[in-house]
Amino acid sequence: MTTDAEQKMQFLYALRSKGVTDMRVLSAMEKIDRGPFVTGIFTDRTYEDMPLPISCGQTISQPSVVGLMTQALNVQPRDKVLEVGTGSGYQAAILSQLGRRIYTVDRFRRLVREARHIFEAMDLSNITAITADGSRGLPDQAPFDRILVTAAAEDPPGPLLAQLRVGGIMVLPVGQSDTVQSLIRVERTETGFEYEELRQVRFVPLLEGLGQDG
Ligand code: SAH
Repeated sequence: MTTDAEQKMQFLYALRSKGVTDMRVLSAMEKIDRGPFVTGIFTDRTYEDMPLPISCGQTISQPSVVGLMTQALNVQPRDKVLEVGTGSGYQAAILSQLGRRIYTVDRFRRLVREARHIFEAMDLSNITAITADGSRGLPDQAPFDRILVTAAAEDPPGPLLAQLRVGGIMVLPVGQSDTVQSLIRVERTETGFEYEELRQVRFVPLLEGLGQDG
């Protein structure tokens, strides 16, 4: 049987071997235990590099994808960050180690409530979790230095582009297919937006309106 410590070492090794090399990201992922964010019958898979089901028919992302997206976002210590798609709260918890203030929104009230409890228990006081349709962004708190979307839209939503500060970065999966999408990195410049395609990914769709808790 492997011990907890061995499992965690293998977890970090898997991240590195899949291209997560940024030391700040790796140490955030070492510090934030994935355990509290995984529930039910899947807890024995917590430290495997795979997405897992959570409440409301959603998923906690694959750790290496969380690492690669966080790395691409290049969060700086003074940054105000918006995450669309709280899900389990795991990604937001990683971001909380890197930025100044994290706003995370999900369309399911239940997911937001469960994530808030974990943030409180872990003393992650720089995260604000809100139930909202994140495809509209969070106009009251805009502009953001960084925006991370963890659900796939056909195109980058206009309100999110508008809420990105000049010099800011947004990372999101886009594409029409349910099975495979492109992860892209958008940088807002003085004159417009620059797009870069990073890799293929698979995320649940970005849906409009609030969800019915299940
Ligand atoms: N980042 C999460 C995984 C996200 S799964 C984690 O670390 O666990 C994608 C999430 O996006 C789901 O919880 C889904 O409810 C949410 N979502 C989909 N469309 C949304 C929208 N328009 N606004 C807010 N959240 C949305």
